[in-house]
Amino acid sequence: MTAFNSDVYIERRAKAGELVKQRGLGGLVIGTGAEFAYLTGSWASSHERLTALVIAPDAAAVIAPVTDIQSLGLEDASDVNVVGWRDGDNPYKLAAERLSQGTVGLGSSLTADHVFALQALLPETELAADAVADLFMVKDAEEVAQLSAAGEAIDRVHERAAELLKPGRTEREIAEELHAMILQEHERVEFVIVGSGPNGSNPHHDFSARVLQEGDPVVVDLGGALPSGYQSDCTRTHVVGDPARAPQDFLDAYAVLERAFQAACDAARPGITAGELDAAARDVITEAGYGEYFTHRLGHGIGLSGHEQPFIIAGSDVVLREGMAFSIEPGIYKPGEWGMRIEDIVRMTADGIEPLNRTRRDLGHDLGHDNA
Ligand code: ZN
Ligand code: ZN
Repeated sequence: MTAFNSDVYIERRAKAGELVKQRGLGGLVIGTGAEFAYLTGSWASSHERLTALVIAPDAAAVIAPVTDIQSLGLEDASDVNVVGWRDGDNPYKLAAERLSQGTVGLGSSLTADHVFALQALLPETELAADAVADLFMVKDAEEVAQLSAAGEAIDRVHERAAELLKPGRTEREIAEELHAMILQEHERVEFVIVGSGPNGSNPHHDFSARVLQEGDPVVVDLGGALPSGYQSDCTRTHVVGDPARAPQDFLDAYAVLERAFQAACDAARPGITAGELDAAARDVITEAGYGEYFTHRLGHGIGLSGHEQPFIIAGSDVVLREGMAFSIEPGIYKPGEWGMRIEDIVRMTADGIEPLNRTRRDLGHDLGHDNA
């Protein structure tokens, strides 16, 4: 089952053909994965056997093992020539024959075995990641609807997360419950991070046997994928029990983090570069003296991949445009003591951003009955 009807993919492939012409390329070879799914609707993989979409300036083909063709769901892809190959054939030759003269762009999910075999047959190749990103960075209305639904799905999980964070429970117990809750709302769990106390200072901690204690800050970052493949990704930071029992330096830094998050939301509008947006949040954190503790980029695009272009990163001159969807996720991590991150997925509109996550970002919801 593909996420959208076949016309959507035919149109996307036509745009890819235009892009090949505009850039004067001999074509594109896209291996299986998110780029292939974006252009075909199929998440098929044939591992060491080549399955690839070949976009030449005026024609498209899928090269695939004959055994896998029926599972690709390309029956209605009237623009695609499906070429089956058998063990013993050279699939790379079948791909190369369909390309025009000129540099060939290779998609970023092709593995090294396929890349080397293609390079042996093609005069010149380049990484096509930026070219392909030009196709998927701006989301159309149906994709925005999927990302909004994913945002609502993960919000329903986050709304129930605070009540799981009780003294005496382990990160692992909580993560297992969150895993089940994500599955109730999504088709697939992408990741679960429950980083309590010092574990929160590792931005990519997952979860451990650590026992939660009253006053522990806890970073909860959750993501899943809907049946369409579109993903959610949202982080909230909590305090176990009464937030007033959290370390004072954590509470002070959290106020800075909230300001940094808001500064990025206020600065985001079409025309700003990804580097400028990163700076909008980073400057607030740096001026407050925590710059060395904000150790990662501000955000990343999201769609069929959990992390994709545009990357909201220092120095990037990628111009952010209406229709792009990406995370805003500043964090402050004091090594060995605590960590904090606030993350929403947002969509760029004509004059600012619309958040696709809407649960509370302050620490107040941990006050229990006071806010019930
Ligand atoms: Zn993220
Ligand atoms: Zn995240």
